Amino acid sequence: MSTATAPVPPAAPETAVPALAVEHVSAAYGPYRALFDVSFTVPAGGITALLGSNGAGKSTVARVVTGLLPATTGNIRLDGVDVTGLPAYKIARAGSAHVPEGRGVFADLTVEENLKVAFHQRLGRKQVGGALERAYEAFPILGTRRKQQGGTLSGGEQRILSLAKVLVAPPRLLVADEISLGLAPLMIDAVYDGLRRINEAGTALLVVEQQVDRVLEVARTAVVLEHGAVAYDGPSDGALAAVERVLASRGERVVGSRIAGAPGTEGSG
Ligand code: ATP
Repeated sequence: MSTATAPVPPAAPETAVPALAVEHVSAAYGPYRALFDVSFTVPAGGITALLGSNGAGKSTVARVVTGLLPATTGNIRLDGVDVTGLPAYKIARAGSAHVPEGRGVFADLTVEENLKVAFHQRLGRKQVGGALERAYEAFPILGTRRKQQGGTLSGGEQRILSLAKVLVAPPRLLVADEISLGLAPLMIDAVYDGLRRINEAGTALLVVEQQVDRVLEVARTAVVLEHGAVAYDGPSDGALAAVERVLASRGERVVGSRIAGAPGTEGSG
């Protein structure tokens, strides 16, 4: 199930309207400025990695593009449509889904109830049965756990449940925030397999990660943030060197495959 040999998806034609365009975006938490003039695109049907050390602003970008945090300046376009300033539910309706850091699972509902709620919202009652079948086919582990309460699933299983909700009614853009955080390697394989299926179904992905090697295996383009600004925006095969440059300037480095912070450099995200 490893993604190690997964082919990198073909580049979208340069003329295609990007799935996501972030244009000169700044954002703040009260008086604290977290993003400074950030611009990049996620090509239609593409996979873009968003990398950076702790506190660089990755989750803030995820929040801004999904409408959870307003941009103070700049524009956000989904498929060419300006969604700047729209509330999160309207941005979701415009075709963007967010699997946030953490899980996005209802703890008191069973696996099946979690899926039913999501499918009912997206597809309507009549299509729930077929959608459930497709979800269990794509993620057999969920079938074996269908009566188990969401809150009692392992971290990896919960993330797979969040992905299954997305797979059945593929959005134009999925923003996946630290989706492999804290997971065992086999679970990370399963999560990345899920991301790959979602991308193959036509969804563009913005994948926020500290697990550099995994995301760069599947991403065609990458953006590296440093102190809330873009330090690199280009092909994914140049991203690792950019990450290492940024980290070296902060006294940090890539350890194994993860971005490791020097003592005292942890962000709050
Ligand atoms: P991590 O990898 O550690 O999650 P990140 O790159 O996702 O980091 P963000 O969570 O986007 O970073 O945080 C960017 C900056 O904004 C950090 O300095 C952080 O302390 C600050 N920040 C994040 N959330 C808030 C908040 N709710 N209130 C105030 N400051 C915040």
